[in-house]
Amino acid sequence: MIKFLDLQKINLLHQQEIEARLLKTFRSGWYLLGDEVKQFEKNLGEYIGCRHAIGVANGLDALRLILKAYIELGVMQEGDEVIVPANTYIASLLAITDNRLVPVLVEPDINTYNIDIAKIEAAITTKTKAVMIVHLYGRIVFSTALKALAQKHNLKIIEDNAQAIGAEWNGIKSGNLGDAAGFSFYPGKNLGALGDAGAVTTNDDTLAKTIRALANYGSEEKYINKLQGLNSRLDEIQAAVLDEKLKYLDKENERRKQVAKYYLENINNPEIILPKQPENQKEHVWHLFVIRTKERERLQQHLKDNGIQTLIHYPIPPHKQEAYPQMHHLSFPITEQIHNEVLSLPISPVMTEEEIKKVVETINNYK
Ligand SMILES: *Cc1c(COP(=O)(O)O)cnc(C)c1O
Repeated sequence: MIKFLDLQKINLLHQQEIEARLLKTFRSGWYLLGDEVKQFEKNLGEYIGCRHAIGVANGLDALRLILKAYIELGVMQEGDEVIVPANTYIASLLAITDNRLVPVLVEPDINTYNIDIAKIEAAITTKTKAVMIVHLYGRIVFSTALKALAQKHNLKIIEDNAQAIGAEWNGIKSGNLGDAAGFSFYPGKNLGALGDAGAVTTNDDTLAKTIRALANYGSEEKYINKLQGLNSRLDEIQAAVLDEKLKYLDKENERRKQVAKYYLENINNPEIILPKQPENQKEHVWHLFVIRTKERERLQQHLKDNGIQTLIHYPIPPHKQEAYPQMHHLSFPITEQIHNEVLSLPISPVMTEEEIKKVVETINNYK
C-alpha cells in the first residue's frame, strides 16, 4: 500500500540523530524552558531570518497568542475584524474567534487556492485591524500590493505559516513576510515534531516579549504575573527533535518539489485538474499536492482499490461547519467548489520512484 504520508519512514530517516537528542534530553532532567528550546528558537529564528522565534505548544496557539498579544498591546480589541481566507483549515478562524475578534472571509484565487489579494480591499471596514494570510498547501501568498494595502489601512499582516515552512518570496522566507507568523510542527507538517508543537516568529520586540509572557502564565519572572496568560510552552523533547530535523528541512522540501514536478509532468488525464506551479519555484514547498476532479469520491475509490491512500484537504469549509452557525448563510462559491473537488495525493520526502510512478499510472488509467 502507498500511504498518504509515511511518518515512521520520515522520522527513521534520521533515527540515530533523533534518538541521541531524545536520550540526551531525557537524561538531562530538565524538561521545560531549557536549553533545547533556546537552541531551537535561535536556529529557527536564523533560518527564517527573524529577530524572534518563540516556541509554543502548537500551531493554533501560535496564532491565538499573536492576536491575544495584539489585544494586550491595544493594537486591537474585542469585536475588531480580521480578514482571513474562506478557503483554509478551521484553525485560522478559531484563533480569531477565540480572541472574540470577528473573521471576515475572502474568496480564494482558483489558480492558487490562496486568498485572492485583489478581493481584500473590498472587505476592509473601519474595524479591520489585520489580514491573516494562509500559505495553503505550502504555496506562498504575498505581493507588494498586499504590503502596500496593509500600510495604507494600517493593518497587521499575520501569516499562518503552518504549511509553508521553507518557502521563499523574493529572497524572504515565509514567516518573515508580515508582522508576525504562526508555525505548526504537527507531526505531518513539513517540519514535524513527535507530537504537538508550534512557534511564533516576529521582528517586533514588544510583541515577542508579550507573546513569550502570555505563553507562560503571563509571567516574565517566576511567580510574578503581569498578564492573564495561558500555558502554551514548547517542551524540551519536541524542541530537541525539531532542532535536529530543521537541519534536513531544505533537503526534504527539495525532494517534495521533485515529486510534485514528476506528478505535474506526467499526470495526464482530462478528468484531473493539476495544481499550478508558481513562476518562482521557491514560493512552493508542496506540503500537499492537491488535484481537483468532478467525481472526487469515485477517483478516491479507484486509487484506494489500487492501494493508494489519499486524503481531502478539506471536505467542509469553515463557514459551513457546525461550529460556526452564524456563518452558514454566507456564500463563497469558489471556496465551496474547491472543497467539493479537491483530493490530496501522497507526497513526501520518502516516497520511492516506484511509488510515484504507480500513483501517476493509476491516475492516468482512471476513466
Ligand atoms: C496545521 C494547521 C494549523 C494548526 O496547527 P496545530 O499545530 O495542529 O494546532 C493552523 N493552520 C493551518 C493552515 C494548518 O494547516
